[in-house]
Amino acid sequence: MKRTKIVDLVHTAEFDRQVCVKGWVRTRRGNKNVAFIALNDGSTIHTIQVVVDVARFGEEFLKPVTTGACLCVTGLLVASQGQGQAAEIQAETIEIYGTADPAVYPLQKKGHSLEFLREIAYLRPRTNTFGAIFRLRHHLAYAIHDYFNRQGFYYFHTPLITGSDAEGAGSMFQVTTLDVAHPPKTEEGRIDYSQDFFGHMTNLTVSGQLEGELGAMALGGVYTFGPTFRAENSNTPRHLAEFWMIEPEIAFNDIHDNMNLAEAFLKYVIAYALKHGKDDIEFLAKMYDPELIDRLNFIIDNRFVRLTYTEGIEILEKSGRKFEFPVYWGVDLQSEHERYLVEEHCKCPVILTDYPKDIKAFYMKQNDDGKTVRAMDVLFPKIGEIIGGSEREADYDKLMTRIHELNMDIDSLWWYLDTRKFGTAPHAGFGLGFERLLLFVTGMQNIRDVIPFPRTPKNAEF
Ligand code: ATP
Ligand code: MN
Repeated sequence: MKRTKIVDLVHTAEFDRQVCVKGWVRTRRGNKNVAFIALNDGSTIHTIQVVVDVARFGEEFLKPVTTGACLCVTGLLVASQGQGQAAEIQAETIEIYGTADPAVYPLQKKGHSLEFLREIAYLRPRTNTFGAIFRLRHHLAYAIHDYFNRQGFYYFHTPLITGSDAEGAGSMFQVTTLDVAHPPKTEEGRIDYSQDFFGHMTNLTVSGQLEGELGAMALGGVYTFGPTFRAENSNTPRHLAEFWMIEPEIAFNDIHDNMNLAEAFLKYVIAYALKHGKDDIEFLAKMYDPELIDRLNFIIDNRFVRLTYTEGIEILEKSGRKFEFPVYWGVDLQSEHERYLVEEHCKCPVILTDYPKDIKAFYMKQNDDGKTVRAMDVLFPKIGEIIGGSEREADYDKLMTRIHELNMDIDSLWWYLDTRKFGTAPHAGFGLGFERLLLFVTGMQNIRDVIPFPRTPKNAEF
């Protein structure tokens, strides 16, 4: 008999028909005569109740039907007598696919701490919480592609292995096939990378932006959506060593177009999650964060406030608030500053623009004041910076001057600089950390809880 997904049964009104469901036992209750099994197959946060006449199957047969075991059940779908569910199945056949010995299965009871579940990340997708989070992760990934496709952007695949270290010097993971215990040496005694796989030093990418710009200069509007890697030893609840980034890059857009895009895009994907992940968001709100749904609707319903960095600093200076990190013009804002602007002053998402050039990347368009660049960061409640972007410097000479000021090594960047020599154009783009967006949409507090297999310092086992 063909399997039906549980998601298609929990809200059904078509009863008194034969069904076959397959899934994992969440709980088993009952008495000598009747057993109630809550079965979940990952298609929904909800379980379907299987009602088992113990005499029909025998106590011995039902013994291994415990939390975590996997079953195939056929039977009659009927309107439920009990509360909390519309439908239940009166079991006629049960096949046990796999048992889960209660003496050793780690997910026996409900209510494990998120910290404990992180230690068994290979099993935690089977919990209600992580099922909800990973379904939402899927919906958001789909919404992102959907949004850009509708807007006529092309999904452009940028490389994960890169020869340039322009952006991430010091925080990159090296890629090599050299024997690290005995690397070949040059006459001067340095490691001879000409013998390495690619003939020079390579690393994992920290961002697809520079290559994304090449795509925009040909296809008009592109976006990347792929993993990025940063060997930053910052053990924070907002940083991963491997995270996914979405980076649109658009020819002929200026910073205002860029802000409009970022705002419309965030509203679209959050609304999509609310619509298609409703049950999961409601579950997370109930369990972890009662204000979650209001916060999501608030983003959709309100226009983001736009301020310059200089205005932001003035607000912070006048706030009378004692911050852990002092505030002055030129400082790189900390998340306590960003959250003050968003949560207490503006009470709205904020887009902060025109940052001091010294705290921003070399490729950002320089303003005429000689001090600031056309950067734009989108700041969210609870999160702080969720998007970082800018209009790009399209002028070859200005870009070169900045590169020399910063003493950057241009040998590995010549291909990027060529875009400014051959048909340069105004353009803009931004980067959204996918897991930061997920933190916001799920209401989770720790970024390790919104990616199936988090990579953080000293943690890459499974
Ligand atoms: P932060 O100051 O929070 O470290 P950043 O300035 O290094 O961020 P960008 O280089 O602008 O960030 O990267 C673009 C986006 O990628 C950020 O807005 C953020 O959403 C996300 N991001 C950056 N670093 C990480 C990380 N280590 N783990 C997860 N997401 C990250
Ligand atoms: Mn960073």
